[in-house]
Formats: sequence, structure tokens, C-alpha cells
Amino acid sequence: MSLHDEMTLAEAVRSAADALRTAGIEGASRDARALVAAAGHRQALDLIAQSEAPLGTGAAEHLAAMLKRRIEREPVSRIVGEREFYGRAFKITPATLDPRPDTETLVEAALEICGEAGAVQQPIRILDIGTGSGCLIVTLLAELPAASGTATDISEAALAIASQNASRHGVADRLRLRQADALDGVNERYDLIVCNPPYIPSGDIPGLARDVRCYDPMSALDGGEEGLAVFHKIAPRLRMALGGSTKLGWALFEVGAGQAVLVQRLFAANGFTAFRTWVDLGGHTRCVAIQSLD
Ligand code: GLN
Repeated sequence: MSLHDEMTLAEAVRSAADALRTAGIEGASRDARALVAAAGHRQALDLIAQSEAPLGTGAAEHLAAMLKRRIEREPVSRIVGEREFYGRAFKITPATLDPRPDTETLVEAALEICGEAGAVQQPIRILDIGTGSGCLIVTLLAELPAASGTATDISEAALAIASQNASRHGVADRLRLRQADALDGVNERYDLIVCNPPYIPSGDIPGLARDVRCYDPMSALDGGEEGLAVFHKIAPRLRMALGGSTKLGWALFEVGAGQAVLVQRLFAANGFTAFRTWVDLGGHTRCVAIQSLD
């Protein structure tokens, strides 16, 4: 069946799913629903509640273009320009990393630490290094209603997207954005630092799946020879940026599979002694937290 604007949403989903399945796309039905909703400017729920409604004017052409991109293996989140993270929708562009479910481990770890310290309702200060879409800092500010934050990124284009996401989720008045590399120009101290740095060893980049290698910004992925370049930049200056007058003073880093021990060793060589780790849903140690109360 060819696509046309008068077909029902249910017909469009069936037809899109068939096209994706024929092209060998895994999860064809799920992707079809997401693309039909986006093409028709609908919510996912409309596809069920209004399944007999027409796809809508201009939507068939839009859907056909989206299906073509998906068949070329572009991720759905890139096609629709949006990704859900910790229950909230984040705008993404080619300038930002596509937030991954693994990174929610960092949010959970940060909220656990705040909960244990009785800081959930406290006016704590949070720094997000390399904010990208802003998924980490915006989520934390939304979950911690009295907190305020700073987010840095080397990419001005990424900061513009983080700013839009902060407005969308009602936290823009508690967030400052600053163009900076790692901890450059950061003079204040923070109760909590979060960072999902680029940590993929340069040599592993050519072997990455096409949907990562071709669509995520290289500066958000490439962590240098061992993958630890950004950790090396941050470690000698972390103490100055962390803690001060609070019981918190934790920096939480996302790490790649198998890097947790190396990262702890690197920070231990810089005088840090208190570490905690969290495991992601795939069983990999995904978050290393480092405390400094000086
Ligand atoms: N902080 C953003 C995220 O976790 C971007 C991280 C990055 O670009 N390496 O998705």
C-alpha cells in the first residue's frame, strides 16, 4: 500500500512497519509508531485512541521521507529530533549526543546521594561538564526543586539546545550555561558535579555501530588514545571545584565498560580516596563517584 494523507493512522502504522520490516529494521512496529506520530504531529497515545483518524495533510510525504532515512539506518531519535530521558523529552540536533538509557544511571546515583544526605529539598549547586542536550542537568534540576546549576560545553550549538531543553522543562531560571572545555574557567565550588565525558578510545571509533559513528558528534564520543583524556584533564583540578561547605562534595562520572577501575586509579593518583560505583541495567559499572569534602 502506498502512503497517502487520507489513510487512517492505523493503516499508516501498518504500512510503515511493513516497509521497515522489509528493509530488515529490528523493532519495525515500534519505530513505525514513533515515525507516524511525528509525521502526523500526534502523540503516541493518539495512534491508539484515534486510530481511525486520517494521517493528515502533508503527513504522507513527511512520513515517506522519514521512512527513507530510517531505512538508511538513521536512529529514530535523530529523525524526529527528540529523545526521552528519565521520563522527559529532550530536543537533540547533530550538535548533541543522543542521550542513552545508560546515562540514567548517573541521575539515579546523584539522586541517591542527595537522598542519603537529606539534600533533596536543599539549595545545592550542581555542575554538569559537557552538557550536550542538557539531559543530565535539566533532569537533576527538575528532580531537585531547590537546586541550581551550571552547565558547560565546548560546543556553542549544544549549549543552545541545552538552553531550549531547560526552558521546556521549566528549569531555565536555575541554570547558567557557559562555553568551556572540561573545568576551564570554572572558579566556583559545587556540591555535586556530573559528567558524561567522551570516553571511547580513538582506535575503537571505526568499529562502532553505524548509528553511533555516523550521527553522534565525534567530540562527544572520542576520548583519546585510551578513552580517558577528559578524565586526565579534570582530575588535577577537581578538588578546587568540589565541596567546600557541604556534606555532599561528590563528582559522578559515566565510564565505558571496563573503565571503572582505570578511572578510580587515575583519581586515586590525584589524591582522592572515597569512591562509589553504580552498575547499569546491562551489568556494567557505568558510574564512578568521587568525593572530596576539603
Ligand atoms: N551530557 C550529555 C549526555 O549525557 C552529553 C555527553 C557528551 O556529549 N559526551 O548525553
